[in-house]
Amino acid sequence: MQHLYFHVPFCRRRCSYCDFSIAVRKRIPAREYVDAVRAELAGIKVSSGWVKPGTIYFGGGTPSLLPPDAIATLINETIPGGLTPGPRPGAHGQRDSHDVEVTLEVNPEDVSAESATAWRRAGINRVSLGAQSFDDRVLRWMHRVHDAACIGTAVQALRAAGFDNVSLDLIFALPEELQRDWRRDLDEAIRLAPEHLSLYGLTVEERTPLARWVSRGAASAPDDDRYAEEYLFAHERLREVGLVFYEVSNAARDGRQSRHNSAYWSDRPYRGLGPAAHSFDGRSRFWNLTAWEAYRRAVTAGRSPIEAEEVLTDEQRELERLYLALRTSDGLPVSAPVRLRPPLSDWVASGWAEVKGERVVCGPEGWLRLDALVRDLTLSSASS
Ligand code: SF4
Repeated sequence: MQHLYFHVPFCRRRCSYCDFSIAVRKRIPAREYVDAVRAELAGIKVSSGWVKPGTIYFGGGTPSLLPPDAIATLINETIPGGLTPGPRPGAHGQRDSHDVEVTLEVNPEDVSAESATAWRRAGINRVSLGAQSFDDRVLRWMHRVHDAACIGTAVQALRAAGFDNVSLDLIFALPEELQRDWRRDLDEAIRLAPEHLSLYGLTVEERTPLARWVSRGAASAPDDDRYAEEYLFAHERLREVGLVFYEVSNAARDGRQSRHNSAYWSDRPYRGLGPAAHSFDGRSRFWNLTAWEAYRRAVTAGRSPIEAEEVLTDEQRELERLYLALRTSDGLPVSAPVRLRPPLSDWVASGWAEVKGERVVCGPEGWLRLDALVRDLTLSSASS
């Protein structure tokens, strides 16, 4: 099965914490973008066999800035024969109105009755909505375009258009001086009854407005205790309402796990299109030119947009497999490559992980320490 990612780099402005590869534009060059991506796609179709994707994901940037007909064109280009309507159980028994999961990342200010209906018609059947917070003060601090009321209105419009698979993004562990009420924000999100939630702890990335604020003392640096407290609270609160973490940052109702992101976490190959998009073919990783203009020039001149490739060593592959397995609620098989001995047995004794059948699965406390756990495991594997 093929998993396809479109990176749509355009944003109206840069959020204060964001270091993603984006192009801030007043006018969205939709036609140029579609032509460029189609040219890249044509090159791939010629050089390798093309199979119908099992999942398509429009991420960014702000893909909801693309006109719906541009999105429809790209979906139709990638799915020979088009989408097949009708319920079909997918991974995790997901109920889906089509045989392909097609996700669009959306910012709340781009949702209207018209846009939501047009996205449905284009073939989008899952929306990931960048809510981030329900506090207007916090949203302004983040340099978000939308206000809190806009999030609820957006969800209503999506429901009215027939979307039954909506995810909300929230950011936690904000600086103390903002006095953000995390409990209230979670409750506001729950009130909208999303099928899925993605929670991201704030990090300070170089060359962002936030990094400048922190360096001159205008914002405090992230606090590990606050991070842990809010993360653990989210696990408890979301479980009460049937949203269960199936990955370190993602919780879903039963059957509503993201099939696209689950492919990444299961170490399966994926193909990225567009500037800065990353791909993985099972052995090597490669990525496209980051800057929109450089990418566009390359593909329209018939050149490959691939900037660089990294062939993974066996050791890197193994480390990646360990890390990915421990990120998810499927966990790590204990039979190979490591048996249940230290450090795994120590984590279980500490309550950071538990044994479920043949697998060791991290709990919230383990996910908080994921990097350290993987380091311990790698060191112990190397010395045994
Ligand atoms: S909308 Fe998303 S991608 Fe664009 S600047 Fe904000 S966080 Fe970054």
